[in-house]
Amino acid sequence: MFWRTRWRLVLWNSLVVACILSIFSISIYSFLSVQLTNNMDRNMIVQLQPVLQTVQSGKKPPALAEPPQPRVLRGRLLGQQRTIISPLNGQPLGVIVWRPNGTLAFPAPKYLTSSDIRQLQAYVRPLRPENITIEQQPVRLVVIPVNANVAGITRPLLVMGLRNISGVVETLQELRWITFAGIVLGVGIAIAIGIILADQALVPIRKAWDRQVQFVADASHELRTPLASIQANSEWLLGHTEGWSDQQVQTVHGIFTETKRLSRLLNLLLTLARSDANTAQIAIKNTDISSLTKEISEQFSPLCEASELQFHVQVEEGITGGIDPDRIRQVLFNLLDNARKFTSKNGQIALTCTLTRRSVQWVISDTGIGINPSELTRIFDRFYQGDSSRSNASGLGLGLSIVKWIVEAHGGSIHVRSQEGQGSQFIVLIPLRIQNRDS
Ligand code: ADP
Repeated sequence: MFWRTRWRLVLWNSLVVACILSIFSISIYSFLSVQLTNNMDRNMIVQLQPVLQTVQSGKKPPALAEPPQPRVLRGRLLGQQRTIISPLNGQPLGVIVWRPNGTLAFPAPKYLTSSDIRQLQAYVRPLRPENITIEQQPVRLVVIPVNANVAGITRPLLVMGLRNISGVVETLQELRWITFAGIVLGVGIAIAIGIILADQALVPIRKAWDRQVQFVADASHELRTPLASIQANSEWLLGHTEGWSDQQVQTVHGIFTETKRLSRLLNLLLTLARSDANTAQIAIKNTDISSLTKEISEQFSPLCEASELQFHVQVEEGITGGIDPDRIRQVLFNLLDNARKFTSKNGQIALTCTLTRRSVQWVISDTGIGINPSELTRIFDRFYQGDSSRSNASGLGLGLSIVKWIVEAHGGSIHVRSQEGQGSQFIVLIPLRIQNRDS
């Protein structure tokens, strides 16, 4: 009974924690990534300033004149050390000066291959910092226009700054993994804590529920004996009515009928209370299901005749398997009796029993008043009764809830198809290998 509520609570808890963790982690990651990139760009522009001034004055920039030694960039996170060799021969910042027509204003730096130069030609235009890939390595690139003054003549040039950002990219990738691992771990912990919290939260509810169920079971049980005695006495009185007026007979008859109805209601309530308390047992026995179904249909047939209904039965031979025969009898009788109650004279009722993939399937159909689509989801609720004005049938509204409980306790399912004014079809499917299961 509380199994579903418990897992729903855990699921909601975990979902909320996962959402909070994800938003928090993604915000931190985005903030760090933007900060890192901004810092890198600012740094690059600052480093480029002396180069820009040199080029403006018409001289060769120092970085081009003297290529620095190959450098090793070290990335360090969680104590792990990696060595990244730049494709641009380890240059922390590479500089190339272009003419606007895409030719080199100074000889290409030695650490760039001719294919690198060809690739970079595509970016010879003023550019804000952006990421490109050279020799499968991520590179940040910026292009700044300058006017160089060479012997009194002003010439427009483009200074291109390049930085290998493998270290930053790998750091961000690691950060993404850590963020992801953090979210997974957080959700795992949230599920574990959620289970403990849900169990704690359900303790008082479980106790109140148990008390309520116990009360209904006790009350139904205690009321059964006096009711049985009233029923027996009124029945005895009805057998000794000599000298009574019609009114007296009718009154006692009324008492007898209502007592019968009440004791049926009490029996149903007791069954439901026991099913809620998980004390109602389903006694699975290896049963000849075909014979059981035929026996039920034979018992039901006279009732159909009395109500002037045609009853068709089709039972596949040789179906055997583990079911509780008494409970299944209750299911089929309830469904057949409903079909009878809600079908008017000369209507038809059909019962089929077949074996479909290790499950037994019963279909009970009628050509009765049908069920309104808005009621279809509610007919299995306790005490729910459809619009009584559509039929003269009297009932208690508990039959289908008991049917559903029995079917589900067998590990099966029940479905209904209906069209108002055309009839209804109840399909019961029970797997034959399933052992007793509490709902
Ligand atoms: P009861 O039959 O005692 O009213 P049930 O739980 O068996 O209670 O059924 C609930 C309601 O479902 C009925 O009141 C009726 O409106 C609807 N119902 C069930 N079976 C049929 C059927 N075969 N045809 C039409 N309506 C049905």
